[in-house]
This record gives sequence, structure tokens and C-alpha cells, in this order.
Amino acid sequence: MKEDYYEVLGVGKSASAAEIKKAYRKMALKYHPDKNPGDSKAEEMFKKSAEAYEVLSNPDKKARYDQFGHAAFDGAGGFGGGSMNMDDIFSQFGDIFGSAFGGGGGFSGFGGFGGGGQRRVKGSNLRIRVKLSLEEVANGVEKKVKVRRKVQAEGVSYATCGTCGGRGQVTKVTNTILGRMQTATTCSTCGGSGQVIDKKPSDADAQGLKVQEETVSIKIPAGVEEGMQLKVPGKGNDAPGNGVAGDLLVAIETEEHLTLKREGDNLHYDLYISFSEAVLGTSKEIDAVGGKVRIKLEPGIQSGKILRLRGKGISSINGYGSGDLLVHVNVWTPKELNKEQREFFERMQGNENFDPKPEKSDKSFFEKVKDMFS
Ligand SMILES: [Zn+2]
Repeated sequence: MKEDYYEVLGVGKSASAAEIKKAYRKMALKYHPDKNPGDSKAEEMFKKSAEAYEVLSNPDKKARYDQFGHAAFDGAGGFGGGSMNMDDIFSQFGDIFGSAFGGGGGFSGFGGFGGGGQRRVKGSNLRIRVKLSLEEVANGVEKKVKVRRKVQAEGVSYATCGTCGGRGQVTKVTNTILGRMQTATTCSTCGGSGQVIDKKPSDADAQGLKVQEETVSIKIPAGVEEGMQLKVPGKGNDAPGNGVAGDLLVAIETEEHLTLKREGDNLHYDLYISFSEAVLGTSKEIDAVGGKVRIKLEPGIQSGKILRLRGKGISSINGYGSGDLLVHVNVWTPKELNKEQREFFERMQGNENFDPKPEKSDKSFFEKVKDMFS
């Protein structure tokens, strides 16, 4: 079981963006690897708090997390939000604790993270849309999509940036009314990576990248909704040099089903039966997401009755069971009658059996709707 992101940062669910940022900064400084060399517990906490901050500092992700919990990101596996590596943390949140560790000189390095203010440049994200049928939404699906992503061209070699000497930052001294101020800014020649292209083949762009088509497999968990966004880490564009690849962001679109209407995890189906079927009872095949389902209707079933087929709805994205399939029974009143039929119904007028006698179990429409949501 993953820890709650709010608990990781030690803030309440109603914490403001500023409070969340402040809480994260405190955690990041406390567990910073430079302060806790070789302490794997501290590193774990450092990563955990970064992951929590990554989600809670992004209004979009925060809203999804508040609604769906961790399931909004892990689903059937492979989606982001999950474990960030050190490079991600420094490239995304470096500014938050950078100054406390002296920007220009600080990092003593771990896992190939170089000295100075050099940072791993992250490649840009790619976005695609994936359209799903209701069946795919109900059961989850693995989609293979072709993505045109920038990858490092073969034969590209890099050299240390001459402008910043590989530090990734340049220091500027300015005179202000408060005295001389020294500021470090990201090197504009190399974009902070500390490297520039030395040699590249003719088919590579200025960054040494070229576009390549790649098939990416995306696992989509059951229960996703229109407008949700999933992340496939590292399947965006590559970054030049020793940078890390961006992410592939997958926007979910859903197709309308011909006969089934979705409402949360429940599905609704309108069933029409004839007057005589309602009187005599019948059995009917109806659409469900797993295929057809046969249901039995008792003699004397009332129009407006709702039959609930438990678990035949959409699997919950949180992994807590499934919704139901609600079958709305509509009795079709004949509009045309032949002579014999007309005479029969005329004879039945005032007949006791045909008089409406609603019982407690024949709930009113409003009671049924109330039940459905309880
Ligand atoms: Zn540079």
C-alpha cells in the first residue's frame, strides 16, 4: 500500500499551494543526499517526498489524485506519478533547494550527477490521443500506438561547453544599490547540460536528434474516463547529450456506445417490451459490456421498473469492484389495434384486474432514482 501523498509531506488535504511547497522544501532539505551521504533511508524519503510534491504541486494531477488516489496514476502499471529518479527530481525541482546548497559549487554527486549547477536536461513531452470503446474502458486494454519521437542520432558526439566550462551555469556580477550581487543563471549556449555537439551526422537536427517512428505499448487500466491523462515515462523526445527523455502523455477519449450509457461506474440500458410480454412475462437478451446477457421478466412487470445486474458495469479505476448494469423496463403501448383487439380492451375497461393498484414495492420514479444513488 502506497503512502498518502499528503501524509508524506505532512500537510492537510486543504493545504494551499504555498503550504505544500513549503512542506516539500523542508523535506527535501532534511533528506537531501548531500546532507545524508550513503543513507538509503534518507534517499528513500527524498524520493518519496519529491513524488508527492510532483503530484500535489500540479493542479491537474492533484485533482485526479484527490478523486482517485494512487490509482489515478499507476493503473495497470507503467504510468508515471510513480517512482522518480534523482535526475528527474533535480531537473524538475532543483530550483526549490538549489540555493540552499550553494548552486554553483554544491553537489558532490551521486549516480553520475555531475558537479556544479549542471543539470540533466529533460526532453520535451509528446502528446497523443487514444480513443477507446466502452468495452475497452470496462475491461482495460493494452494499446499499441505509433509515435514519432526524437531520438539521439547515431554518430553524434558531444564536447564540454566552452561558455560555461561544463558547469551548466554562468555567473554574472551586477552592481545594485545593495552592493555587488553575484547571480548564477543557466548557460544559454548548452541549455544547462554542460555539453555541446561536437560531431553529428547530416540527418540530425541542431541538437543531434532525429525523428524516428516507434511502437509504444500503453497499458490502460479499466475504468478510465474521457479527458483523463496517462503518462508513459521516457517515451517522449530524447534530450541531447546525457539528458533524460521526456514523457508520452496520453489523453483518453471515449466512444459513445449504441445502447449502453455510462454514469460513473454504472451502465444504463433501456429495454422495451410489448404489452403482452409485460402481462405474461418473458425473457430478453440485452447488451452488456462482456457480450449479451439474458434476463427474465416476471409476469406483471411494471413499466419503469429498474432491474439491477450487479457487477455488470465498469470496473472501478481504484480497483474496488465494479459498477452495475441498470436495465430500465419500458412497456410499449400499442398505438393501433384491430377490431378484435379493440373489443377485448373495451371489455376490460373497468375490469378489476386492469385497475392500477400500485403497491409499496412499485416505487415511484423519484424513490427509484434515490435508491439508485444510495
Ligand atoms: Zn554551457
